[in-house]
Amino acid sequence: MSGASESPKPFRLQPLVTPENEHYWQGGARGELCFLRCGDCSHYVHPPAPLCPECLSRELAPEAVSGRARVHTFTVNHQPWIPGFDPPYVVAIVEIAEQSSLRLMTNLVNCEIDEVHIGLEVQACFEDIGDGTFLPLFEPRR
Ligand SMILES: [Zn+2]
Repeated sequence: MSGASESPKPFRLQPLVTPENEHYWQGGARGELCFLRCGDCSHYVHPPAPLCPECLSRELAPEAVSGRARVHTFTVNHQPWIPGFDPPYVVAIVEIAEQSSLRLMTNLVNCEIDEVHIGLEVQACFEDIGDGTFLPLFEPRR
């Protein structure tokens, strides 16, 4: 059993929220995973940047995606490196459904370790880490 719901909240480094990235860190308040998207070529841009790397447009605006993703690769950590993170836990790189080049390093939660595999379909969920900031995590799509 993961026991995630009974465990104390794991220690997380508080991200530096700026006007450029607040859509990403605060979208979880609405249950939305948000990225900047180019208004000219529709490319999603992450991490946030002032220019679209594809077409150099400055017409970037936050837009919510579905939150669907798939596991690109993952590792299982068996060492108690961080207080409150009870091993084993899964660190994964997931590909966002809307754009496979859009990848996030994240934790997989609400799942058994044995269940995790490359290609696993996952869905964004959010951990409230205070100050209106939400950490995007992923859980298997049920
Ligand atoms: Zn563009």
